[in-house]
Amino acid sequence: MTRVLIINSGSSSLKLQILDTAVEDELAWALVERIGEPSGILTVRRTDLTGMPAEERTEEPTIEDHTAALARVLELADELEVHPTELGVQAIGHRVVHGGPDFHEPVLVTPEVEADIEELELLAPLHNPANLRGIRVARDLLPGLPHVAVFDTGFFHTLPAAAHTYAIDRETARRWDLRRYGFHGTSHEFVSHRTAAVLGRPHGELNQIVLHLGNGASASAIEAGRAVDTSMGLTPLEGLVMGTRPGDLDPGLIIHLIRNRGMSPDEVSTLLNRQSGLEGLSGARDFRELLARVDEDDDDAVLAYDVVIHRLRRYIGGYWAVLGTVDAITFTAGVGENVARLRADALSTLGSWGVEIDADANENGSGERVISTPGSKVAVLVVPTDEELAIGRACDDVLGLGG
Ligand code: ADP
Repeated sequence: MTRVLIINSGSSSLKLQILDTAVEDELAWALVERIGEPSGILTVRRTDLTGMPAEERTEEPTIEDHTAALARVLELADELEVHPTELGVQAIGHRVVHGGPDFHEPVLVTPEVEADIEELELLAPLHNPANLRGIRVARDLLPGLPHVAVFDTGFFHTLPAAAHTYAIDRETARRWDLRRYGFHGTSHEFVSHRTAAVLGRPHGELNQIVLHLGNGASASAIEAGRAVDTSMGLTPLEGLVMGTRPGDLDPGLIIHLIRNRGMSPDEVSTLLNRQSGLEGLSGARDFRELLARVDEDDDDAVLAYDVVIHRLRRYIGGYWAVLGTVDAITFTAGVGENVARLRADALSTLGSWGVEIDADANENGSGERVISTPGSKVAVLVVPTDEELAIGRACDDVLGLGG
């Protein structure tokens, strides 16, 4: 039995789970949001897998920083008898967004690894500093445990040069490690393995397209088990339309805004990271809200939805051409798992390519499932992602805990 604490530390949030990797489920979790704002929100929950009834504590205090957040979580966990020490947690696994050119596999966090993650802050200024904060805070408050870093970019280290190279001056690119890295790799890897398991086929024999559609969104092309293309690039801005990010756009637009329209690089960064995508097009970053407004024939919401679908089709068709043959297309994450209509619309033009959705399975099922008809040339699936479980298993592997 291996018990692992998983930490996903964002700039203003902290998500924690204590997992038992043997039963593949969580004993407790905590979520802290709006860290550093006047009113934060903090929830700690014990699940009935602990052998005690499920119980939850929520409060809305001011949470100054990540140290205060974790300290309060640990106090409440103590009251609920799910403190990591009490539950026998053996390791702490961290999601780290950018692994740069060198980190391919999950690693034990040493002072050198920490310094490298810090250096990568230049490539991921919105993410890596927060991830590193999570590692440091956890080490201070839970001393004596090993820490494992699992990189969002790791699964995509197999991208061939043709897919990861930006067609810019080679010397400039080499000097500053400018290339496509890809993100959400832990999810794409996990989901592609589950897809193979559901289909009862070896992962290494399948050509797959995986669509991770949440607040952030990305697509990947996987050839015989290896990632050969993905939609995110040097940063998580490239690719599909997202909650607040535009995905692909002409870089000339950025030059134009800075040179001719008086915007500073910081203002452009805010525009592209927070005021674009669904939010920028319709004012609704949350897909549920967007769909409610589509149903009311709100013009902005309808356009936003159409842009999302158009972009998805371009990626699916493009990856199909890259792969030559496709065995499975899988939808995952908040939107991919829950929005039947988007799944149907994204694939609706592919009838002549042999893709046939089973409307009943698409609209009515739940959990891992095939949603294509038996006659469809390509299997279409919904597979819930579980990045925490994947990180927990990575801790097992790195530390040799699983036995
Ligand atoms: P992230 O992990 O990137 O924050 P998630 O994978 O949790 O994102 O996905 C969040 C998105 O999924 C939001 O846009 C949310 O509205 C959407 N979503 C979640 N559940 C549903 C649902 N039942 N119907 C429609 N959209 C949903």
